[in-house]
Amino acid sequence: MAEKMQEQRRKSVSILGATGSVGGSTADLLLANPELYSVSALTGGRNLARLVELAHVLKPGFVAIADQDRYAELKNALSGTGIEVAAGDAAVCEAAARPSDWVMAAIVGCAGLLPTLTAVRRGATVALANKECLVSAGDIMMREVQASGATLLPVDSEHNAIFQVFEQHRRKSIDKIVLTASGGPFLGATLAEMEQKTPEEAVAHPQWNMGAKISVDSATMMNKGLEVIEAAHLFDLDVDRIDVLVHPQSIIHSLVAYTDGSVLAQLGMPDMRTPISYALAWPERMETSVQRLDLAEIANLTFSAPDMDCFPALALARGALRSGGAHPAVLNATNEIAVEAFLRKKLPFTGIAELVSDALQTVSARAPQTIDDVISLDLEARADARALLSRGRAVA
Ligand code: NAD
Ligand code: MG
Repeated sequence: MAEKMQEQRRKSVSILGATGSVGGSTADLLLANPELYSVSALTGGRNLARLVELAHVLKPGFVAIADQDRYAELKNALSGTGIEVAAGDAAVCEAAARPSDWVMAAIVGCAGLLPTLTAVRRGATVALANKECLVSAGDIMMREVQASGATLLPVDSEHNAIFQVFEQHRRKSIDKIVLTASGGPFLGATLAEMEQKTPEEAVAHPQWNMGAKISVDSATMMNKGLEVIEAAHLFDLDVDRIDVLVHPQSIIHSLVAYTDGSVLAQLGMPDMRTPISYALAWPERMETSVQRLDLAEIANLTFSAPDMDCFPALALARGALRSGGAHPAVLNATNEIAVEAFLRKKLPFTGIAELVSDALQTVSARAPQTIDDVISLDLEARADARALLSRGRAVA
């Protein structure tokens, strides 16, 4: 009886992108609090071993792997556990559709769009890490959130920080928001030095331990550009009210400036478990084992304006948001292809922003109206980016 009552109080959660960096931090929090949470579904892209390991410890009802060819292996690995398994993109969406109170949307890239939307459409509380889906389909996503009554909680550390100090009932008194940026591993490098940077150097982020794609985005500062677009949708602000401030220590996670001159900020150690826990326990807070902030020990927090010449991706993203229409979706799709090419050593580091800039030259002003429009636009932009790549941007 007591056990049953406890079961009734447990929040059921699903993790989309469980095998990644954010997925892993989410799993840590769940494992530390088994009395508070039960797991409904887990998904992974290709990392079968990690998915199986997580399934054994988190004991979900359903596990999906995006890679269709791994179905038999997954089924074998989890046979006898009673866990249902499936494979393919539709299976990932099925995981998102399974009943659960709370869904972590932590698939990287536009691949997360349909699964995230599926969770939104059933009115779940969605903890959003997958910023690319708001970049590609922000207006549509936000409309779907309204229509379904879903709750969208920002997990990206900057947006989570703003969410914590953004006084919704005093919107009129908000002057602007300021997203902080670590500046990534190449802060202070010249463009000529950046030309030579390797994938190994680009993914070695000084403050955060993240997946490869977002690490490269941090190095180009496209990540901050994507975050400006993400913030515009989440907080319904236009581009001129979203500033970027370089703060290499990543202690102040972002700020909200009010018209009375007050600036509210959220601080903490750079550890994704803090923003994830905020979304997991929301509207309460939960205890975590995250290292406590000791400002006396850190002693120095420094700030500077971003160098727009060395980090052209930031201006490209701001420009795409300003232009609207198909620009943000094309920016995102091209960036995904460019980052992939860079990681495969097919494009120099500085070629990432160049490819995105080239792709944005010929974009239609017409905004996608439906999710199907976004998906066709995304596929088209990827094909165009590959064509641009093969026409000469590749490294010899
Ligand atoms: P990651 O690469 O470590 O993990 C990505 C996850 O997505 C993995 O589970 C992978 O298997 C899955 N995946 C990849 N391709 C897929 C596909 N085609 N279909 C289904 N699943 C697929 O990435 P991450 O660092 O955890 O980042 C995840 C998202 O969160 C990104 O959008 C990123 O921008 C955002 N984010 C990450 C951090 C961080 O600290 N890592 C911080 C803020 C925001
Ligand atoms: Mg961030």
